[in-house]
Amino acid sequence: MIAPIMNNKRSSSPRIDKKIFCGVCESSCGLVATIKDDDLIKLRPDPDHPNSKGFACSKGLAFGAVRDDSDRVLHPLKRTDDGSFVAVSWEQALDEIGERLNAIIKVHGRESIGLYQGNSVAWNFGAFLNLFGMAGALKTKHLYSAASIDINGYWLVSQLLYGSNFLNPVPDIARTDFMLCIGANPVVSHGSMANIGRFRDTMLGVTARGGRVVVIDPRRSETAELFEHLPIRPNGDAWLLAAMLKVIFDEGLADLAALQRQTSGSEIITDLLAPVSLAQASDAAGIPVADIQQLARDFAAAPSACAYGRCGMSIGPFATLSKYLLDVLNIATGNLDREGGWCFARPFIDLEALMHQLKSTGYDRWRTRVDGFPEVAGTAPVVSIPREITTPGKGQLRAMMVIGANPATSSPAAGELRDAFKQLDLLISQDIYITETSRMADYILPPTTWLEREGFPIFTQSHSGVPHAQWVGPTLKARGDVRDDAWIMDEISKRIGIVPADFPGAQLLGKLGLRPSPSFLMDVGLRTGPEGDWFGLRPSGLSRKKLLNNDGAIKLANGLPTGVLNKRMFTKDKKVNLDHAVFRTEMARLLASSFAQDENYPLSLISQRELRSQNTWLHNISKLVVADRVQRLRIHPTDAARYGIEEGDPVEISSPYGQIRVPEARISDEMMPGSLALPHGWGHEGGWQRAVAVGGAGYNQLTTNRADSADLPSGNATVNGISVRIRSLRDVVEMAS
Ligand code: SF4
Repeated sequence: MIAPIMNNKRSSSPRIDKKIFCGVCESSCGLVATIKDDDLIKLRPDPDHPNSKGFACSKGLAFGAVRDDSDRVLHPLKRTDDGSFVAVSWEQALDEIGERLNAIIKVHGRESIGLYQGNSVAWNFGAFLNLFGMAGALKTKHLYSAASIDINGYWLVSQLLYGSNFLNPVPDIARTDFMLCIGANPVVSHGSMANIGRFRDTMLGVTARGGRVVVIDPRRSETAELFEHLPIRPNGDAWLLAAMLKVIFDEGLADLAALQRQTSGSEIITDLLAPVSLAQASDAAGIPVADIQQLARDFAAAPSACAYGRCGMSIGPFATLSKYLLDVLNIATGNLDREGGWCFARPFIDLEALMHQLKSTGYDRWRTRVDGFPEVAGTAPVVSIPREITTPGKGQLRAMMVIGANPATSSPAAGELRDAFKQLDLLISQDIYITETSRMADYILPPTTWLEREGFPIFTQSHSGVPHAQWVGPTLKARGDVRDDAWIMDEISKRIGIVPADFPGAQLLGKLGLRPSPSFLMDVGLRTGPEGDWFGLRPSGLSRKKLLNNDGAIKLANGLPTGVLNKRMFTKDKKVNLDHAVFRTEMARLLASSFAQDENYPLSLISQRELRSQNTWLHNISKLVVADRVQRLRIHPTDAARYGIEEGDPVEISSPYGQIRVPEARISDEMMPGSLALPHGWGHEGGWQRAVAVGGAGYNQLTTNRADSADLPSGNATVNGISVRIRSLRDVVEMAS
């Protein structure tokens, strides 16, 4: 509902306020947009939003500048023979793309077409449905997701333990007595895989009511500054978690009744822990044995506790095992599905059930062609893309559609990916900017932003600390000649003779001229789901129309539900299935791994999220990126002294895979000795001028996409704990000047 709030004397059109939600990050904060004549006057936090409760960060509040950015691509662009772009009509772009795709399909088959999904798709239900639908209709195994850079292990563990990739427990921080926060910095990131409104305040609430928050991180991050901090060596998380569990089981602190009641296959835990040595784990994690023991005892003894882990533990070589052990820690201490513990959220559209019914969830139903990675949720890992492009044979990747992503910067071994992209027969990018990726494309097809399209938080509704429902129409008219991602995919699909949908009968319906829209499908899912109105049979229930007409979000409950385990499980026995061979293999691999630092590359580099940055984007607007912004490498004073680095020095970082130059060193005891931190997502090229001008170095010039360096069960890239060496470039710069 739109409420007029005032009249402008110079114009008869009123300003109107509209309650929406932010589509930048996983917080999905409620916003109020003030609009006049289709101009966005301002965005402000929605004080009435049930989850975010009046919070919004600078990124969301500044997003109008992205929508109005003069560097934004506003018309379809086609690459010319000299490499420049010319504007073309949608009809021309789509027809030519259709012709070229059909020619590729004719020779190489539909399985030669690839799709790449960026994070923005997670806030765009139409794109999400059409992307998976296109991949299903094409029967291609080349569906790649940015999730395989940071979170595939989550999907895998959820599939095996709970029966669905998309059923992910979230920490009940609002009611917990003890929060263990591993490798996450929610004060800066605002949370991931946990849609906790006012994340920082909610964590502060734990200590305010006498509880504890312990942050495990190689860096005394902005979150660690506020709470207890236990430094850990990069990629030491699996060791720490295994050692904590060892203490809990050896000392009889496990909740065996809960294990008996909620799980099957719990015998695996003692099998896995038997060979774990606390001394070895302590060495690997860099945490004294006594500290591990005390942490384990305190966690187990807390009236309620939740262990939450994110990027620091999900982008290393043992990401899957780390996530598994994290869940086991929550489960074995009796904290699953109880207040203050590890809980299942209450989405207003039961996406988990819908995906399960459509058989869209799974693990290891097929393997990738070149590297033999198991699929995760129907996707293949990003690390394999270059080899899938360059390795001849049936199923070779020949054409790629990249939707809302910048893998030429965000993926490991980014330079190798760029080289491989040049070998494609066709590269299509759906992007609002000319980025490092889209500048290589044959066609750039500009999509709407989340301010210009209908939306509901399809992804984050499944992780929301305060269950709520919200569905909004477009806030503003689309600028220029941009179109919704879903429309673009549907138009391309039409031209290659498919319907971008993977439900039974979808292709047949397409032959009859029927193409159900994503909003229709989602509305049916909502109306026939647990919160739905059953097409009038339950008048108090929800529908798309009802939500679109509602001003703001509707609160469904005060907090996370508990006691719902049996209802939420998709496993056959309705219990958490703990015993899978992959976890035994991974524990053996961990125990056999070396955690000694390579003497040629004696330091360990981790990536760092910054408050005003969102991976590789939001880098082109002055409200978020000031002109004199500098990318800084953080280094401990001991390491700085050892390697001759002074504050402000330009620094060269070398890994076995590449070399970059970082503008400045920042010497700080926030770092654990032996580890370095560098903001990622920088070092831009292309047509987004401010992003290019601020410079910086590309973190992923130092990483590798080698299959054996990834998290093997999930194929997730290892982009944390990179072995590097450094040297000051102070003298080089002085000589040059
Ligand atoms: S925290 Fe995330 S969702 Fe909230 S306003 Fe900021 S960017 Fe948007």
